[in-house]
Amino acid sequence: MRRQTTRDLRRHNRAALLSSLYLRGPASRLELVAESGLSPATVTNVIAELLGEGLVAEAGSVESDGGRPRTMLRVNPGFGRVIGVDVGETHVCVGLFDYELETLATVDHPLRGTDLDPDEVARLATIGVEQVLAEGGNVLGIGVGVPGAVRDSGVVHAPTLGWSDVPFADLLRTHLPIDAPLSVDNRARTLGQAEMWRGAGRGAERAVIALLGVGVGAAFVTGGGSVPGITTSEWGHTVVRAGGAECRCSSRGCLEAYVGTDAVVRRYLEMPGAQPIPDLQSEARLAEVVARAATPGPAADTLADIGEYLGIGIANLINLLAPDRVVLAGSGSAAMGPAILERVRSSAARHALGYLAESTEIELGRLGAEAVALGAATLPIAELLASGGRTAEVRG
Ligand SMILES: [Zn+2]
Repeated sequence: MRRQTTRDLRRHNRAALLSSLYLRGPASRLELVAESGLSPATVTNVIAELLGEGLVAEAGSVESDGGRPRTMLRVNPGFGRVIGVDVGETHVCVGLFDYELETLATVDHPLRGTDLDPDEVARLATIGVEQVLAEGGNVLGIGVGVPGAVRDSGVVHAPTLGWSDVPFADLLRTHLPIDAPLSVDNRARTLGQAEMWRGAGRGAERAVIALLGVGVGAAFVTGGGSVPGITTSEWGHTVVRAGGAECRCSSRGCLEAYVGTDAVVRRYLEMPGAQPIPDLQSEARLAEVVARAATPGPAADTLADIGEYLGIGIANLINLLAPDRVVLAGSGSAAMGPAILERVRSSAARHALGYLAESTEIELGRLGAEAVALGAATLPIAELLASGGRTAEVRG
């Protein structure tokens, strides 16, 4: 019992210092003492261990007032690599990242049609993992983001894929070429974690990370800074127009039925004067609409409407949750975000309560097309940080 307690305490101290260096950046031992509340002797001992195991590295020194220079410490980017798998509705994207989440390689496999066979998706994900593994390196873990609810460490319920209680983690384990820790979670949550750790959510205390794609979701993040708490939602199926456009959830007037990737293209094609769009992947069709919107006409009018509806959806979030920041992310945001951001901001300001809208920033995500894969890669990192860097304990 006594040994157990000592080990728990050591793990807690390792987790605290490692998380601090990982999420807040380089610091000296003195700064870590101040931040963690641990004694100088404990910090010195734990850091010596982490340095010895290669989890932490020295990063030069800075002058200090009157004393000798202080050695700065940081996480060691060479400690290992992580793989993130984004199972979207139109593609499977796999990324290889270093320990600090810098992208080393990505591959993308398109998916066609609906009601996707889970085994086929697992097979494509495995091919992607094998491709990025060709880069080599010690893989600390694999994270997977899926467009649905996840329970019991990897059983997926994803109506938009036609999946009901699919044991996707088990299915992947039978295919994967390596025996690394595997974590599966909702895509909106993994994207939220990516934007909070490395993107436009950094520093926010209460943030909403909106995932715009074929499907539309949102993650609500509280307590930015340390490891944040993340709640996902079915924001895409909140109604923005009574009796409005038909939604694939069988209701009408849902936000997704206006601002989802396919919905935007469909709305454009219904406009008078719209020109046909080649039969491409959903994202490529949306990119075509955005390109046409550069000049006045039906495409520009469509995007103005979309900005208005998205602003209404965000105003509802602002009135419900009072976030200090809303980040628009996902492939839909990457494609049309710059074109509609001002309209979204003005619509949200008109539809939300003034005092709440005034204290909410609306920004575009900064992580690009592989944001969800990067978010998935944060899953094994989060487990590593929580365990104090003991990968063997994560597995056990
Ligand atoms: Zn709906």
